[in-house]
Amino acid sequence: MAEIEECIFCKVAHGKLPAYILYKDDFVVAFHDINPQAPVHVLVVPTRHISDLEAAAEQEPEIVGRMFQVAAKVAGDLNVAKNGYRLVLNNGVGAGQIVPHLHLHVMSGRRFGWPPG
Ligand code: AMP
Ligand code: ZN
Repeated sequence: MAEIEECIFCKVAHGKLPAYILYKDDFVVAFHDINPQAPVHVLVVPTRHISDLEAAAEQEPEIVGRMFQVAAKVAGDLNVAKNGYRLVLNNGVGAGQIVPHLHLHVMSGRRFGWPPG
């Protein structure tokens, strides 16, 4: 499928586009965001192409729990768990999702406002 072949995060997950990978298993990949919005800004994505949360709920609901599990592991590995970290999942264009491959932002190292912008 052309959509998947062109997908940036599919390329990262399959080693076709370089990224600073922090964690990888058969299901999930975590790597540094190329345009960090905080001192720590990591993306956790499913290896398989899943466009958004609705697709995940339909096709592979267990992947969502795994993504959060890996987010917690990365936060621990990067020593930000104690101070806290912000998890963001922009779901859909209206919420700011630019890359149509499900991903969880793990951000830390600065103060975060509430409500988010
Ligand atoms: P979103 O707006 O939630 O879709 O976020 C997409 C994120 O992907 C942005 O924070 C981008 O900086 C990041 N991004 C785009 N291309 C790459 C890439 N090749 N490697 C790492 N992060 C990327
Ligand atoms: Zn993809």
